[in-house]
Amino acid sequence: MSEQTTATPIRVGVIGAGGRMGRMLIEATTQNPNTTLKAAIERQGSSLVGADAGEVVGVGVLDVQIVDDLPAVIDRIDVLIDFSLPDATEQNLRICADNNTAMVIGTTGFNDAQKSELAKASERIAIVYAGNYSTGVNVSLKLLEMAAKAFGKDADVEIIEAHHKHKIDAPSGTAYMMAEAVAKARGQNLDEVAIYGREGQTGARESGTIGIHAIRGGEIVGDHKVMFIADGEMVEITHHARERMTFAAGAVRASTWIVQQAAGQYDMQDVLGLS
Ligand code: NAP
Repeated sequence: MSEQTTATPIRVGVIGAGGRMGRMLIEATTQNPNTTLKAAIERQGSSLVGADAGEVVGVGVLDVQIVDDLPAVIDRIDVLIDFSLPDATEQNLRICADNNTAMVIGTTGFNDAQKSELAKASERIAIVYAGNYSTGVNVSLKLLEMAAKAFGKDADVEIIEAHHKHKIDAPSGTAYMMAEAVAKARGQNLDEVAIYGREGQTGARESGTIGIHAIRGGEIVGDHKVMFIADGEMVEITHHARERMTFAAGAVRASTWIVQQAAGQYDMQDVLGLS
């Protein structure tokens, strides 16, 4: 499903402008005909403050100076894209809710209190919150639901994810989404059936549990494999993200969709029409 061109480009702000994802997001706003970058925000005291966002990411001058103060630029944007840290995103949620600005959030690793802050803010503004913005992962989630329903608890499900050595949380937001999709399709509560890694005298595998394992190393962008191990056969659903631009382009696409929605919490399945 390709995007149609809109008459007036959506005005986008990007948090964490100097981060791995922030840089990609800035570039992606220049590649999407429906968006224009109007603000780029970094952490207070960042050495990038004052630099031109386009020059920093290597796409030429965009006439957008990186700032360290979101409230100072919030009236320039229709939507804020935030792939940063849970504490930073929590603050930004309040600022966006107070200023009626939509959000696209990719930050992972929220605690329960932060998840409730997000839910509270979504009563006032429209928010897309997804652990993964790639089309392929969202298609994979649908396939997982299908496999989980067909196999039921007859198949042992094990999820293995691999990411670069810089990632600070585990398992990945995507692995959680995949585990949730399987648990939901089987009528289970993930908290009750998830097993994170194994070590020592674990005893035999309990039927109906979902194993989740994280590998960290090098510069792996993001790999996920879900195994349905049944008696006599096995199905594997695998996704490899080859470059971060996949997530950035999806998030920028989500930004053009969310500005047309009423207050509420949405995910990438909603954006892609897969819900
Ligand atoms: P990163 O390179 O560490 O980037 C994070 C950026 O946020 C850094 O530039 C950091 O600045 C900045 N930042 C931190 N606190 C800030 C604040 N208060 N205000 C403004 N900026 C602030 O990390 P990354 O690899 O880009 O990942 C960022 C997040 O996105 C992680 O949670 C990751 O799991 C998630 N992610 C999600 C998806 C998805 O599809 N949902 C895909 C990839 C990554 P400093 O460097 O100065 O600290």
